[in-house]
Amino acid sequence: MRPTIEASPLAHSMPRLQSTLLDSPGAPVSPTGPSQAAAMSRAHTVPSVLFVDQSGQLGGAEFALLQLAGHCTERSEVMLLSDGPFRTRLEALGARVQVMSDASVSGIERQASWSKCLRVIPGILRQVRAIAERARAFDVLFLNTQKALVLGALGKPLHRKPVIWYQHDILTREHFGRVQLAIVKWLVRLAVDQVVVNSQASARSLSALTGIAADTVPVIYNGIDAAAFNRIDGSDTGALRRRLGLPEQAWIAGLFGRLAPWKGQHVALEALARLPGVHLVLVGAPLFGEDAYAERLHAQAQALGVADRVHFAGFQDDVPAWMKAMDVILHTSTEPEPFGRVIVEGMAAARPVIAAAAGGVTEIVRHARNGWLVKPGDSAALAEAIGTLRADPALAQRLADQAVMDARSEFSVETYLQRMTQAIKEAAR
Ligand code: UDP
Repeated sequence: MRPTIEASPLAHSMPRLQSTLLDSPGAPVSPTGPSQAAAMSRAHTVPSVLFVDQSGQLGGAEFALLQLAGHCTERSEVMLLSDGPFRTRLEALGARVQVMSDASVSGIERQASWSKCLRVIPGILRQVRAIAERARAFDVLFLNTQKALVLGALGKPLHRKPVIWYQHDILTREHFGRVQLAIVKWLVRLAVDQVVVNSQASARSLSALTGIAADTVPVIYNGIDAAAFNRIDGSDTGALRRRLGLPEQAWIAGLFGRLAPWKGQHVALEALARLPGVHLVLVGAPLFGEDAYAERLHAQAQALGVADRVHFAGFQDDVPAWMKAMDVILHTSTEPEPFGRVIVEGMAAARPVIAAAAGGVTEIVRHARNGWLVKPGDSAALAEAIGTLRADPALAQRLADQAVMDARSEFSVETYLQRMTQAIKEAAR
């Protein structure tokens, strides 16, 4: 069975966004004159990129790629290994998208055994060949997820293109199986030209796994679009809550992210049971087959007697509006978070953020300065932190004021795109 390859029907008909950075040298030039000549000569130095991502769903890695691919639509293309709403979002930005799915390969989990991996070898080889074939038409192969890394890097002898991997994960046994880590370690050593990481925490895990010095790997933080948050008027919280169907008068904590055990929504429910009168909104869906966990959360809310104060909102596209409707934003991951876009988004929404202190989170949140840190998995500590901010609105406001400034200055989309563009250019040399 060949992998299914579908060219996006909208790809060529979508209007291009105003191009910047990677595209800009080849983008709008006057028809004549020296500026045209200069632009054309620069165009030759701008690499064309084949981006590969394993998911059709919208997780943090995909939102990061959405911004990057949306800014270099002219000479680049995105190959997805599963179809889903991510494709539609890319196409809406004018990106060319191909979907190349193979059910056997997308079914491999993070903890897969050697025997399971061996059984899907034919599917893997088909995808390796298909990616390599397409990659030959581009200057650089940009791999955005771990399956993309495996399939893209294995084909290096076939495509011989520079390979760049954006590592969005903490590469430890808490998150991944032994087999997967062994494969990643050898591919990074043998077939990847440039790794960039989304946090120092991710870099340290790469270093421990591969022996590559952590300070030689560029840390490129995700950028969060402050303008999307500025567009939402959060001054009339009542009106915002009415629009979203939330209780207008309640004091509300919001937890954003896919429903998955390690994202710790169960910890927030336990904390809620200690906080009479507080409401909790869970925004997000089980994106990667975690439906049983979602059902357990509903049962847990009933068992704790808090179901009338918990609102399961499902996946929402308008995160800025939902965040601005909250009194506090929670982050409750029980394992170290590689980065945590939702934390910076909460900060950009000018809301106080309480976050679990592990992994990349401590590179974003400074306790009692621009947010509040608690021990991961500790529902009593989380309840206490929520109680503290609820009881002291002036403190909550001070944290939120600093948070907005930090989100803008340290996690801007412009910096993210500039640094990523630079890394791609360096990989292409
Ligand atoms: N998100 C969203 N709608 C939802 C829940 C989450 O758009 O209903 C977005 C959220 O705004 C964030 C991303 O999904 O940009 C999650 O990224 P994060 O780094 O927090 O977690 P990851 O998915 O990488 O584990």
